Amino acid sequence: MRVLAVGAHPDDLELLCGGTLARLVAEGHELTMCHVCAGDRGSFVHSSEQVRAIRLVEARRAAEIAGAAHAALGISDGEADGSDPEQRQLVIDLIRRTRPQLVLTHAPGDYMRDHNEVSRLVVDASFTSTLPLLETGTPAHDEVAAVYHFDTVAGVGFSPTEYVDVTDHLETKLAMLAAHDSQLSWLRDHDGVDILERARIATAYRGFQSGVDYAEGFVPCRTWLRNRTTRLLP
Ligand SMILES: [Zn+2]
Repeated sequence: MRVLAVGAHPDDLELLCGGTLARLVAEGHELTMCHVCAGDRGSFVHSSEQVRAIRLVEARRAAEIAGAAHAALGISDGEADGSDPEQRQLVIDLIRRTRPQLVLTHAPGDYMRDHNEVSRLVVDASFTSTLPLLETGTPAHDEVAAVYHFDTVAGVGFSPTEYVDVTDHLETKLAMLAAHDSQLSWLRDHDGVDILERARIATAYRGFQSGVDYAEGFVPCRTWLRNRTTRLLP
């Protein structure tokens, strides 16, 4: 199966579904990890251009640890916009290039705009990428991929309906997250959290809910053309 995971910022996928991504690759699926925003506005010590470059390197390293291909769309932080035609085209092209059967992205009610707008961009593009007369220079995708929303940050307001046991992949998830070295200090200084410790707690909490040591939670996008009769998650 080809899987496309799309997060807003360079560390979101690792934090919110990194164990599932590692497990998908371990089970032989072909994964592309993409961040839409560049992570270029969260630093007390670097310029925007510097932090953009640093975070691209970190994200590539994290994808490498997962065994995934990596893509980045380069939008500035805070500017993700589901009604922007250029951004819609970028996401359509991303889907057309990667041709996924399964797409993972943010839930629509997360704590900040970029997450919610990326969710909107991806859900919309999962359909519009199949329209042959919507021309982007890349052939239309041949199916409307199933879309699953992954957890919100800290699980606030998100009630999973499907869980993935990531007990055997927790250390990979944390290694992927730790590749975002610049974020460990940013989140400590700006938000007062040790994100590696919190990631372990959040993953243990979803595990507690689902009867395993560590798990991640998802809600499928239940609409016409995106429903499936079989489970696609591991
Ligand atoms: Zn984010």
